[in-house]
Amino acid sequence: MGMDEKLLELLACPQCRGSLALLPGKDGLLCAACGVVYPVREEIPVMLVEEAVPLDKWSGSKPAV
Ligand SMILES: [Zn+2]
Repeated sequence: MGMDEKLLELLACPQCRGSLALLPGKDGLLCAACGVVYPVREEIPVMLVEEAVPLDKWSGSKPAV
């Protein structure tokens, strides 16, 4: 089972409480407001500020903007 949109609705950025966007590769959740990506490991989102990766350092899939 992958993450679905319902789960995504429940998730919020731990820093700004903003909404998140699942990256195309489903390997991370982007907070556009903070400019960081929260990794998704084995389909589990890691919603920890310490684990957030700045978007310019993120090596996974890129947002489709
Ligand atoms: Zn945020």
